[in-house]
Amino acid sequence: MNAGRVALAVFVAFLVAAPFLLSEFYVTLMNYIGLAALVTLGLVLLTGVAGLMSFGQQAFVGIGAYATGVFTTLYAGSPWLGLVTGLVLTALIALALGLVTVRLSGHYLPICTIAWGIAVYFLFGNLEVLGRYNGLGGIPAITLFGWKIDSGRESYVLIWLATLAALLAARNLLDSRAGRAVRALRFRATMAESFGIDTAQLKLVIFVYAALLAGLSGWLYAHFLRFLSPGAFNVNIGIEYLFMAVVGGASQVWGAVIGASVLTLLKEWLKDILPKFFEQSGNYEVIVFGLLMLPLLHRARDGLMPVFARLGRRTRDRTAPPQAAAALARRARPAAGEALLRLEGACKNFGGLAAVRGLSFEMKTGEILGLIGPNGAGKSTLFNLVTGVLAADGGEIRVRGARVESMPARRIARLGVARTFQHVNLVGSMSVLENVAIGAHLRGARGTVAAMLRLERDEERRLLHEAARQVERVGLGAHFADASASLPLGQQRLVEIARALAADPVLLLLDEPAAGLRYQEKQALAELLRKLRVEGISILLVEHDMDFVMGLVDRLVVMDFGEKIAEGLPRDIQANPAVVEAYLGGIE
Ligand code: ADP
Ligand code: MG
Repeated sequence: MNAGRVALAVFVAFLVAAPFLLSEFYVTLMNYIGLAALVTLGLVLLTGVAGLMSFGQQAFVGIGAYATGVFTTLYAGSPWLGLVTGLVLTALIALALGLVTVRLSGHYLPICTIAWGIAVYFLFGNLEVLGRYNGLGGIPAITLFGWKIDSGRESYVLIWLATLAALLAARNLLDSRAGRAVRALRFRATMAESFGIDTAQLKLVIFVYAALLAGLSGWLYAHFLRFLSPGAFNVNIGIEYLFMAVVGGASQVWGAVIGASVLTLLKEWLKDILPKFFEQSGNYEVIVFGLLMLPLLHRARDGLMPVFARLGRRTRDRTAPPQAAAALARRARPAAGEALLRLEGACKNFGGLAAVRGLSFEMKTGEILGLIGPNGAGKSTLFNLVTGVLAADGGEIRVRGARVESMPARRIARLGVARTFQHVNLVGSMSVLENVAIGAHLRGARGTVAAMLRLERDEERRLLHEAARQVERVGLGAHFADASASLPLGQQRLVEIARALAADPVLLLLDEPAAGLRYQEKQALAELLRKLRVEGISILLVEHDMDFVMGLVDRLVVMDFGEKIAEGLPRDIQANPAVVEAYLGGIE
């Protein structure tokens, strides 16, 4: 049993014992912690993991709470139907808000959620049916199989069951195909799209999910307190939730519990002592929170969770390669000699700079085609055009006959195109194995819900098994469990190759794969690329090491200033005066 499991067992034991040991006051406090942890958990996924910031989670809590409040008091409905009503309403609103904002980059989402939070607060305060600022009372208790949950200790059971379930579901999610995609969203969206992940859709899913957790918290809150007033859903509460996520460690599932506990207890304590220092009462704790945030962000950028984790530093649980599993299906190979990639007059401008101008060439299945040229010639830009990271400004690009010059990257990936990036594009905090498994994303199908419920373990085993095979293949078998950022740059490039291979490509684009490798490693890489060619994988290769290139490629295309200046067999290219000129810059 590793330290993580011990910590979980201790935590669950504490939760079970708490209602028997704690006074009514502390049980109530624990209830508030559980309710806040649910909301914070949503923020951890949304902000910490996916990189989207929301200041409006309290509004979703409010929607969940008022929906069941109105439904059970005015219409005398069952709290369970109140839950369904609240969640459906929350999901619809989050979907609408998300559709407008999630695709937009930068600050649209935070600003939109602030505006939304303010609007909802005033809506709660001004609607007659919601009791305006006086609030809404007489909300009934929840009944579960005849058990009436109407005391603090009974609510405790329900609240913490819900919170624990949500925590485990979130943990399951992050450790899955869908979760790897979510974890790539924040810093590696371009890479994710290049391996077939629909990042905009995924962001929307996470936004709606976070809203649903808030809505669930609202429902529990309404039936625990039995009374609602707008003050509980004020904008500053939304900021408190964000505090909780940051304090706990915004990218860690259990950080939600730590953050919610620390801030709830601190708030309670400050509420007691602060008024003694000030003449009037007021929300002084908010100021103190703000001040406490500064040293925290300075000293423990990742929140308190890593500090706790360090206390029980665990041995990694995935040092061994994953268990054997059935191999994944492979895609049909095109026949050797079939036209695989064809460019006709491809163009790309950056402002006034023509990075690629009117480039045409053809590549057949089974070829290793070298693309060389001085720095700034436009080679990486060309890769971006072929893989859909950039849209071409003109010309045609065909992959196996399909026009791709304005296709999104994730659709080009489906055609069997996989790439590495010149600037290594790995998720640094993920293990080598997980990074490579992202490459196999399109070879799996199970989504977020299946992942939360662990219904995708069979597929997951197969994906990890395939990833492990590719890690072995590039010679990194000893590094399965290492965080990819801990490897030297040359080896990170090999991880990139393994990830591309996990996609089962027919066309592999390698951007300077040998940079940073030692002589023997280069030899091994060349050997691997030759093997891939035999297997029917065609390779477009950008590389500066001419010994490496000349001994490996079938043909070469030479670029300079965005144009093709030569094309042909390696020995002809070496003797080509235009090429010599481009490389030596006319120096005698
Ligand atoms: P290579 O890979 O052959 O070294 P690149 O394709 O990276 O060359 O760059 C070609 C030219 O386009 C260079 O002059 C580079 O500065 C410019 N360039 C590349 N990407 C961008 C971009 N995103 N915005 C503006 N200019 C760019
Ligand atoms: Mg480049």
